[in-house]
Amino acid sequence: PIPQLPTSSEQGRPHSPATTPPPPWRQLLHYVRPYRWVLLAGALLALLTSATGLALPLVARGLVNDLGHDRSITTPLLVMSVLVLANAGLGGVGSYLLKRTAESVVLGARRALTSYLLRLRISAVDRSEPGDLMARVTSDTTLLRSVTTDTLIGLGTGGLTMIATLVLMGVVDSALLAVTLAVIVCTGMVIWVIMPQVKKTIRRAQDSVGVMGASLERVLGSLRTIKASGAEHREEQAVHAAAHEAWRHSVDSAKWSALAGNMAGLSMQIAFITVLAAGGARVATGAIDIGTLVAFLMYVFYLMSPVQQVIAAATGYQTGTAAIARIQEAQALPAEPEAEPAPLPAPDAEPAALAFEEVCFRYAGELPYVHRAVSFTIPGRGLTAFVGPSGAGKTTVFSLIERFYEPTAGRIVLDGRELMRWEIPTLRAAIGYVEQDAPVLSGSLRGNLLLGNPDASDEELCKVLKTTRLDGLVAGLPQGLDTLVGHRGTKLSGGERQRVAIARALLRRPRLLLLDEATSQLDAVNEAALRDTVADVARTTTVLVVAHRLSTVTTADRIVVMDAGRVRAVGSHRELVAADLLYAELAATQFLTALN
Ligand code: ADP
Ligand code: MG
Repeated sequence: PIPQLPTSSEQGRPHSPATTPPPPWRQLLHYVRPYRWVLLAGALLALLTSATGLALPLVARGLVNDLGHDRSITTPLLVMSVLVLANAGLGGVGSYLLKRTAESVVLGARRALTSYLLRLRISAVDRSEPGDLMARVTSDTTLLRSVTTDTLIGLGTGGLTMIATLVLMGVVDSALLAVTLAVIVCTGMVIWVIMPQVKKTIRRAQDSVGVMGASLERVLGSLRTIKASGAEHREEQAVHAAAHEAWRHSVDSAKWSALAGNMAGLSMQIAFITVLAAGGARVATGAIDIGTLVAFLMYVFYLMSPVQQVIAAATGYQTGTAAIARIQEAQALPAEPEAEPAPLPAPDAEPAALAFEEVCFRYAGELPYVHRAVSFTIPGRGLTAFVGPSGAGKTTVFSLIERFYEPTAGRIVLDGRELMRWEIPTLRAAIGYVEQDAPVLSGSLRGNLLLGNPDASDEELCKVLKTTRLDGLVAGLPQGLDTLVGHRGTKLSGGERQRVAIARALLRRPRLLLLDEATSQLDAVNEAALRDTVADVARTTTVLVVAHRLSTVTTADRIVVMDAGRVRAVGSHRELVAADLLYAELAATQFLTALN
């Protein structure tokens, strides 16, 4: 199965204009544009190289005709040596410049694509395979390398050289030119038939590279689970099957490209034989001299390389269109609008006030509603706890506040302004969010802590380390804050990861702090300490927590009980125990049942 990226934006009400992507050749020119002068220089040198090559037969004609007439051949020989040397020198520099341009094109495409991917809407991320997107950045852009050199140079220099050669052939003998042209036209027709096959097979090959990337990412990202489940063998087979598919389609396209490439050699051999026969007859009748025939045959020989280049241009273009189509598909995914990064709020900024007004939401058009008219008001400052069974929609409340998704109906209002009217970076700068599974990125502890506020001072960092009780952990590590935490923080314990995630959020000095089961994995001592920390923060900040521990919930200023996408009740612990059956039940079991 080929991962089909959705091309329409069904999420994202306001943004992501669905512009139709430019045709592949325009896109290719767009990639090349910034490097056009280097490309032009390279192309000019390549042309000069061809010109020096083309001048050789003319000198050779003189040399051959001089041979029988007892004239000195030193000058023509000298000229020929200079031409050969110039040919090699210019060719080398030109080829370097062209390859350099090609690499720059790959770099440009990679930058553009990664910038776009970083702005992707979470809804788009939900529906894509990271491994496939990765293949589009690494593998598909690489194809642009050969496309740039093969297509543009092939068409440019190859095409021009071919025309120049044909003109010179016409000058030498127009009858023999007609013979050559007939052969070239036949070749062109065969190539025309082959090209769509090249494109189709390349596209399939690249798609299977994407599938392989996706399955590899799945396996390597979950190697512990796979080993624990004894599923290595089955997973291995899945990745191998994907690799085999890529091989099959690549071999298929190699077959068609080889066929096309071979046509240059074949057709020039045919041209050579035909010209030899026709030219021999013309020499016999005295229409042309032997030198002319030799010169013409040399031109046929020289025609080989530009014809090869033009065919490579056609093949390269098909490869390029397949790659560009895959890059454009990724760039058609719904993304957030481009915006400048926003500064973090001042340390003494007012706590945020938040309200949900009849918010309805579902993750996609075909999925059931997760929020059915959710309403609550949080005036600002203080601790609000969200409780309710698993799947009630608590995490979704936080996702909507971060604008990872937009409500299907209803309004979310922050500080009296509808969320939709906030610039996304400004909005997120105001929020500290600890996600449910406390994600930690690979890299150092310091990098993780400063992720949301790289400018935090050492004092701030020290203070936060103390309040999140990470100071002991850091002191015990030989490399301290520079300790690497491994992929997704696997070198930390669950509770340590949670404390790192909380510290990261606190360092942003948020006006709105969202903690989604952020202390669920802490031991009793650390949990109690962090409860105090959170209570402290809540004195000056609006804090929302999803929690299952009674101890956390009872101290909250306000409790929102959610069930099946609705708010059942809002109140204090005392009020709710008396008024809400579900809450009373949860409280009675001390929130100890597995509810996350
Ligand atoms: P809670 O945090 O209260 O346990 P969530 O807000 O995480 O519940 O999830 C509510 C419902 O939404 C669940 O039924 C879940 O399956 C669904 N859901 C959560 N995230 C997604 C998503 N990214 N795409 C589709 N459905 C989702
Ligand atoms: Mg949740």
